Amino acid sequence: MRNGRIAGRLVELGQDLFQAPKQFVEFTKVREADVLLNDIGGHPHAFVLACVMDRQIKAERAWLIPYKISLKIGSPSFDAFSRLSQEEIKDHMSRPESLHRFVEIMSKYLFLAIGRIQDQYQGDASRIWVGNPSSAELVYRFLEFEGIGPKIATMAANILSREFKIPLSDYFSIDISADVHVRRVFARLGICPEDASVEQVIYKARSLHPEFPGLMDLPCWEIGRQWCKPHNPECGACYMKDICPTVNKGATVPEE
Ligand code: SF4
Repeated sequence: MRNGRIAGRLVELGQDLFQAPKQFVEFTKVREADVLLNDIGGHPHAFVLACVMDRQIKAERAWLIPYKISLKIGSPSFDAFSRLSQEEIKDHMSRPESLHRFVEIMSKYLFLAIGRIQDQYQGDASRIWVGNPSSAELVYRFLEFEGIGPKIATMAANILSREFKIPLSDYFSIDISADVHVRRVFARLGICPEDASVEQVIYKARSLHPEFPGLMDLPCWEIGRQWCKPHNPECGACYMKDICPTVNKGATVPEE
């Protein structure tokens, strides 16, 4: 079956990426901000607060917010963040430039997230993921933060396990993040129809690789960003070209 063959290739590519040694992750294109976000041992709250900010603006801009606030308050420590009132956060997010499109609600979410880290995790955000939690428990803990929905919660769990090598007891609940690249690639690979909903893509990935549906996330994202562009896909360079049903705009591969 073609879907099985394609999923098998995506899973294989995902396994390679998952098992690769830990590398520095570029979240924002600002080196100092990325250093802070990569320091999940020393400043784990920066990663969590960036997740909370990641909605309705470009991710690169959202993930800069904890770093930009740390510059304004003179320290990236959790202690410094925990001393901020909601009004002060709003002020830092508003002036001189607006750090988010929706400053009012996002400053509230940031304030509540800091409070949650303080109260539930004794000021140490790494307690969210230490101790080999199950993937469902980890996703659930992110969902407990106001402003974080299933998409960001599973993305956070995926980054923690894949990029930061945080061990979990299972990976069943780490879904694929059905962004525009992933949806386009799923459609061109014939896995889902072009007009498939986010939910259809998520459930199809679950059906293809229930043990770890999110494993296919990064390969699809890379294929979409590098070769499978919205117009004129560069099929000749794509590592799915020998089995993709729409390679070179229409050529098909036979069903197995
Ligand atoms: S072979 Fe072409 S159409 Fe198929 S996934 Fe790769 S770039 Fe997209």
